[in-house]
Amino acid sequence: MAARAGERRILCVGLVCLDIISVVETFPAEDSETSFIAADFQRRGVDTAHIAWQTRGDVPCACCIVNASSGSRTIVLHDTNLPDATARDFERVDLSQYKWIHFEARNAAEQEAMLERVERHNRAAAPGQRVRISVEVEKPREELLPLMGRGQVVFISKDLAQHFGYRSAPEALRGLRGRIQSGATLICAWAEKGADAMGPNGELVHSDAVPPETLVDTLGAGDTFNAAVIFALAEGRTLQDALTFGCRIAGRKCGIQGFDGII
Ligand code: ADP
Repeated sequence: MAARAGERRILCVGLVCLDIISVVETFPAEDSETSFIAADFQRRGVDTAHIAWQTRGDVPCACCIVNASSGSRTIVLHDTNLPDATARDFERVDLSQYKWIHFEARNAAEQEAMLERVERHNRAAAPGQRVRISVEVEKPREELLPLMGRGQVVFISKDLAQHFGYRSAPEALRGLRGRIQSGATLICAWAEKGADAMGPNGELVHSDAVPPETLVDTLGAGDTFNAAVIFALAEGRTLQDALTFGCRIAGRKCGIQGFDGII
């Protein structure tokens, strides 16, 4: 209400918040979100033996708005006070059981120690027993950047590339190649432009995106792309094949709600 001239008004100091309300039939049982995530992994055949269960913090929870007319997604709230897995948690992993370990760059200092452990294992292992390491740097946070130098396969996001001022994936690959170890592969996906990669000898490879007939939901397209590329490379397929496969599976994901039915 407009105040009349000369009249003193009421001032509020605080925070405004967008409430996104879920109406449910019954209130979920305590901890059911944790059981829901673990059960979902199990249903999809993901081994959960190495989950580092935390005694404090909450289950990370994001509210996402997916625009049904374009498939675009906006994350309006993302709450993470859950501690990350530590180098100590990682000690429990029997490295000889794995051919590939992927790191999503998060808690840099702890992850550096995990990477050191894998590198030590690799130095002592016979060539056929070494573990390949991939690293994804998505967030443009200064302390995460050195992790780019630790992967044999390094994924960088469009967001990170743009943060450095690059306007395309090939430009980002050329500009950031100095940050990766020699002989490593650098990969950058760029939404509807597909993805580009620079192989061990500096060769540039590209795959166009494979858009679905109708864009339904692009949330998680990047993670889908990374998973498909890692799967293909771990099978021994070429970089070009892996990029094309990544774009095909990520494109399929964009055409459906969620992840059921992408493979
Ligand atoms: P995210 O935003 O989830 O990080 P990216 O932008 O990194 O996803 O895209 C990953 C891959 O997903 C792209 O290389 C492309 O193959 C596919 N993709 C993403 N958005 C689209 C889109 N709008 N149309 C077609 N393919 C897309």
